[in-house]
Amino acid sequence: MHTELQFFEKLVQKLLSAEKTEPVVKPFSTSTVNSDLNLGFQAEGLSDGDWQKLVEDVALNTPRTSSKLFFNQLFGGRQPKAVLGDLLAVVLNNSMYTYKVAGPQAGIEKAIIQETCRLIGYKNGDGTMPPGGSMSNFMGLIMGRDAKDPLVGQKGVSKTMILYTSKTSHYSTPKNASFAGIGRDNIRYIRNDRFGKMEPSHLLESIEEDLAKGYTPFYVNATAGSTVLGAFDDINPIADICEKHKIWLHIDGAYCGAVIFSEKYKHLVNGAERSDSFSFNAHKMLGTPLSSSIFVTKHKEQLVKSFSNEAEYLYQTGAEDYDLGKTSIQCGRRNDALKFWTLWKSIGSNGLEELVDHQFELADVAREYCEMNEDYTLYSFPDSVSVCFNYKDIDPKDLCTKLYEEGNLMVGYGQFKGQEFVRLVTINATNTKEDIIGFFQVLEKGT
Ligand SMILES: *Cc1c(COP(=O)(O)O)cnc(C)c1O
Repeated sequence: MHTELQFFEKLVQKLLSAEKTEPVVKPFSTSTVNSDLNLGFQAEGLSDGDWQKLVEDVALNTPRTSSKLFFNQLFGGRQPKAVLGDLLAVVLNNSMYTYKVAGPQAGIEKAIIQETCRLIGYKNGDGTMPPGGSMSNFMGLIMGRDAKDPLVGQKGVSKTMILYTSKTSHYSTPKNASFAGIGRDNIRYIRNDRFGKMEPSHLLESIEEDLAKGYTPFYVNATAGSTVLGAFDDINPIADICEKHKIWLHIDGAYCGAVIFSEKYKHLVNGAERSDSFSFNAHKMLGTPLSSSIFVTKHKEQLVKSFSNEAEYLYQTGAEDYDLGKTSIQCGRRNDALKFWTLWKSIGSNGLEELVDHQFELADVAREYCEMNEDYTLYSFPDSVSVCFNYKDIDPKDLCTKLYEEGNLMVGYGQFKGQEFVRLVTINATNTKEDIIGFFQVLEKGT
């Protein structure tokens, strides 16, 4: 282990300086990447020297997602305290299913869940850390399904159950509907207003139509930070409808649910305490390494009902509340809690708040830059960390592809109501205002 750790430290130092001098690596073509980098296997292993050289080569040719010029996805930057936590989780190598095996690590996960419930306003809530936001949404969906029809888990789905989500919600919803036996055809895509928020009047209309047809509306997925526009559905009017029709309300806050840490921005999820379940990704706004997702619900018993199963060979100490396997999808489960905890303990809840607020400030800087410069057309709105724009008359797809292929900048494109645009996400809280201006300069120079 000693040699490997020494090699690791040297390699990481190399990576960190390469990230500064060359923030974007030129991509290999998919048709040659395996042969160019010798990714395949041989019967004989490599000598230590060759092995180190190969590992280094692969690492240095991997996209640099923590650099100053990575804006391509909804994560970025590097919080050193969180990185340390994740490295330690690997060395400790616990599995989170029982207290016997996880010990204080289970306590850490529980502390994260309890504080999240408190921030949202769930009394006696509970939760778990699923492997990502898509799986958090899946858990919400399963619980909503089981709450509406407690026999489904035993007998299978027997009626037409309908779920509602906005047109701009995350693509995990149709996949999850398929996994859950609900069926993709039983999703109603609710219209967005011009800001990208779900239209509650259309939601109500759709539910009433389905009831009239004898169908069973059971689930509404609201989004706190839609993937493209970063828009927040208005929770209160949606919660009114869900309460009236006894429908499970899940808030998908994978992208921006972490606003619960901010005094200034938590109003964007006003009414969240009225939802049945809520999720956010610490690996998005809070900058922990992938993945660290938190799923919470106010219905502790339903969580157990939907996700527990007897397993005499596993649960042997009767640690009940600390046997976290009773509320998770997986059996063996990675420790995604420690990295968030090492960060949170180091900077406190106030520090998490600053990370969130800073991202909104950076977005303001970017929006202002677009507004002040007539070469830019802006398509997004305040209170969002996604800044969508077009530059001159350049096709956004061509622009993003050119920047990527020439190793200048990583940024993606998206669309809303038929309009395509570049999407800059200011989710990397280690960036400064100057870095955001730098983004535009690199973009302008690269075209
Ligand atoms: C990123 C995202 C997800 C998916 O989260 P993963 O951790 O990538 O599975 C779900 N919903 C929204 C709104 C997202 O932005």
